[in-house]
Amino acid sequence: MTRVLLAEDDAAIAEPLARALRREGYDVDVHGDGPSALAAAREGFGLVVLDLGLPGMDGLDVCRELRAQSSTVPVLVLTARADEVDTVVGLDAGADDYVTKPFRLAELLARARALLRRGTVEPAVPARVRIDVDARLAYLDEEVVALTAKEFDLLRVLLREAGRVVPREQIMREVWDADWYGSTKTLDMHVSWLRRKLGDDAGQPRFISTVRGVGFRFERPT
Ligand code: CA
Repeated sequence: MTRVLLAEDDAAIAEPLARALRREGYDVDVHGDGPSALAAAREGFGLVVLDLGLPGMDGLDVCRELRAQSSTVPVLVLTARADEVDTVVGLDAGADDYVTKPFRLAELLARARALLRRGTVEPAVPARVRIDVDARLAYLDEEVVALTAKEFDLLRVLLREAGRVVPREQIMREVWDADWYGSTKTLDMHVSWLRRKLGDDAGQPRFISTVRGVGFRFERPT
């Protein structure tokens, strides 16, 4: 039976979530603080579901410490703050995926299943497109791609949400900093420029897919 470590101090979240995970057939251990979660995580879990706001040691540090100890257990982060996501996933803390609170159980369970599946296939396919947020540099196959500030911000949002559709309204809010009701022409132009710089083709996208009437999705490497 697959063992899931749930590190969450809020019983109103931990209890229903643990129940749902058990219903899915997982063996669930719940820990309500950072140090005990970290100690337990060394004991052969298939997945760690990690709240960021934990007493004793915050979830980011738990995740960093796990990776520093060369643990490869998949980590799914729960966060109330979308702006923490850049730090959590990828370069810095080494988490594999996240859901933002409040989340739908069905979505969390789907992400947990995906991570558990991925845990059995390795190595992961390296991403061809990546960014260094601090240096504000974008790379395609390890070559720097010259982007404007807006193109970079657009790519940052799409990469952060890789594998899922980012609605147009959300992109406008995050990149153009506006509640925004008009035409989507600016966004479409920037997507088109970004595609050209990445050598992507709207007709047969390798990187950025258009989801008609909704938004855009950056494709995860397969
Ligand atoms: Ca918490």
